[in-house]
Amino acid sequence: MHDHDHDHGQEPLPDIALRVKAPESLLVDKGLVDPAALDAIVDHYEHKVGPRNGARVVARAWSNPAYRERLLADATAAISELGYTGGQGEHMIAVENGPGVHNLVVCTLCSCYPWPVLGLPPVWYKSSAYRSRAVIDPRGVLAEFGTVLDAETEVRVWDSTAEIRYLVIPERPEGTNDLDEAQLAVLVTRDGMIGTSRL
Ligand code: FE
Repeated sequence: MHDHDHDHGQEPLPDIALRVKAPESLLVDKGLVDPAALDAIVDHYEHKVGPRNGARVVARAWSNPAYRERLLADATAAISELGYTGGQGEHMIAVENGPGVHNLVVCTLCSCYPWPVLGLPPVWYKSSAYRSRAVIDPRGVLAEFGTVLDAETEVRVWDSTAEIRYLVIPERPEGTNDLDEAQLAVLVTRDGMIGTSRL
């Protein structure tokens, strides 16, 4: 008969959880950090500040053929013309989508990402699922992002490293001839510059 005593009282938090929880709750208790504000700051850099830089680069390439040539020839230099330089962006390569070609960026080893043009990487970019499946089944991953490519379109997958970071130049959408650079930049999304979406 199984009758030994299971009444050990409440399970203690594992050590690691305590160590993570303690500093944050201390700061929160002292009113130094509002967790919602922290989340808002991360969200701001992930979606707004960072990718807006890349969007300006793309918009300039769309509207200025000479700049596009420079960007494709030496992305690091062309991007620095707009003032976007620094850590994790020292060796940039721009890859251009076009009819029949779609580019997708991943870092299979970790989470290398071009900070000066895209800001902070999204959580899914760092996930092991994305990192492995983007290489094994890029069309399947793209479809899950809502980007369904026809069978004739070639998918080129670029594996970022500590040395080289990639920026996808999406295709300029139809019907945008009248838009200026600033208006074009609004159309360019972070995911478009990673390649998980078209724009
Ligand atoms: Fe990495």
